[in-house]
Amino acid sequence: MKEVISALEAASISYTTNTPLHTYTTWKIGGPCDLLVFPRTIEEVSLCVRTLKAAKRPWIVIGKGSNLLVSDEGFRGAVLRLSGAFDSATFGGDGVVAGAGFSLITLSLQAAKHGFIGLEFASGIPGTVGGAVCMNAGAHGSDISKILSQVIVMNAHGDLVTLQATDLLFGYRDSEIQHNPWIVLEATFSLSHGEPSVISEKTKMFKEKRVRTQPLKQHSAVCSEILYRCLQRL
Ligand SMILES: Cc1cc2nc3c(=O)[nH]c(=O)nc-3n(C[C@H](O)[C@H](O)[C@H](O)COP(=O)(O)OP(=O)(O)OC[C@H]3O[C@@H](n4cnc5c(N)ncnc54)[C@H](O)[C@@H]3O)c2cc1C
Repeated sequence: MKEVISALEAASISYTTNTPLHTYTTWKIGGPCDLLVFPRTIEEVSLCVRTLKAAKRPWIVIGKGSNLLVSDEGFRGAVLRLSGAFDSATFGGDGVVAGAGFSLITLSLQAAKHGFIGLEFASGIPGTVGGAVCMNAGAHGSDISKILSQVIVMNAHGDLVTLQATDLLFGYRDSEIQHNPWIVLEATFSLSHGEPSVISEKTKMFKEKRVRTQPLKQHSAVCSEILYRCLQRL
């Protein structure tokens, strides 16, 4: 990994080495990865991908680790965790453009406040936008495929590609992202307008149902504290 680390340092990209992944998964288990990298911009992700490819080192991208079971042996390669510019969302006339590192729960909450219908189902799903697109996350009869308009991904060459929702061939908790070496960077969701108080009420109802039916204060696949805190914010 020496050549990769040199490139990261030259570009001032944050990284750690030999990092246990148990702190990055909700199961709280998982051995170390060789390199954990925190790219903040598209340019930094591209540099990571190009450098890793040239060095013939494998990489994966993770979100909040709420759908990841990592072996005690860890991962021999680089784990990318998007940060910085990827942790934001911009609401406009027809919906929202969200960075892949943005919290899905926060996005749902903000959509309700902005008077947008469509993301209420996501108010209790503890992941990022990128992870949700990859997994076609869903609940309460809806899922990401119903609201996604397009995504910007980075391919294995470090190039940007814009894909329409139909290109992702969504299925139940499945998408083409899982079957290609693509890193989701940004997602555009088409939402319709509604009355903020009505949308917030529905969001709250979904939240209450989750609190009622899931043991959030006991050990589960999610870090109960994180999910509990997220739900408290709704
Ligand atoms: C208590 C609990 C409740 C849950 N409830 C639901 C539910 O109601 N509905 C539901 O659908 N799921 C649910 N999940 C599962 C999980 O929250 C979702 O699958 C979520 O979308 C995963 O997002 P993440 O950011 O944590 O992804 P991670 O777990 O970090 O990663 C999951 C997959 O996505 C990939 N990935 C992550 N980010 C990107 C990216 N930027 N680009 C490309 N690939 C990426 C990873 O490589 C990995 O393959 C629940 C999980 C827990 C623990």
